[in-house]
Amino acid sequence: MFIDSHCHLDFPCFTVQLDALLSQLQEKQIIKVIIPATQRSGWHAIQALCAEHAPCYYALGIHPHFIDSLQEDDLLCLQQLLNHSDKKQVAVGEIGLDKYASADMELQESIFIKQLQLAQRFNLPIILHVVKKQSRVLEILKKQHFTLGGVYHAFSGSYEVAMEFIKLGFKIGIGGVITYPNSTKTKQTIRRLPIESLLLETDAPDMPLYLQQDGFNSPLNIPIIFESLCLLRKESKSCLAAQIIKNTETIFLKE
Ligand SMILES: [Zn+2]
Repeated sequence: MFIDSHCHLDFPCFTVQLDALLSQLQEKQIIKVIIPATQRSGWHAIQALCAEHAPCYYALGIHPHFIDSLQEDDLLCLQQLLNHSDKKQVAVGEIGLDKYASADMELQESIFIKQLQLAQRFNLPIILHVVKKQSRVLEILKKQHFTLGGVYHAFSGSYEVAMEFIKLGFKIGIGGVITYPNSTKTKQTIRRLPIESLLLETDAPDMPLYLQQDGFNSPLNIPIIFESLCLLRKESKSCLAAQIIKNTETIFLKE
């Protein structure tokens, strides 16, 4: 059994085929998916989608790439939606810092901190999006005394950096990057990480897998990412799969 801890099933490219896709997920033993939001315009649709489909859970938040189109009352709206308790709501996300996002870094940091504070207020873990800003994100998490953890989504980088996040209570989201032959550094990191820190994710429809001709990623690819992970790890497949489910449930799906 698997959980896709990060896929954007609310994106329009999935709408037409959603019912078919959800039944295929079942066939592939993908029992749950977590849908992180990227901007306010998606929040209500994600909530509606998750209310309608049992395997779907969600996070609400403002992604660094959408901070430049932020409206004044977006954070207030986020606060109101987080306040309304819903067992399908499992995190605040995706949030973080991205060197390549168009909003300037000062603004990104201020919106990130405000969303961290909301997560603290509502006792929720976070889904982190970090690009080339790892040490700054670590500094902020420490300064804010953020202890609720979450996941560092689509991790790539060194063992030392991964361990810094793990020490702060974060899991490491493993996606399609490990299907690429040239992702040597990330693969070396993932080989060594504690098994309790591993989560699986596709980030669909982004992040196509290696040699995926159509360039279109889907949560149905989780078993392929899992097979690549198994090649890096010494545990048995069944042990690895069971522990990853447990890790995902511990951080996001505690009932
Ligand atoms: Zn994403």
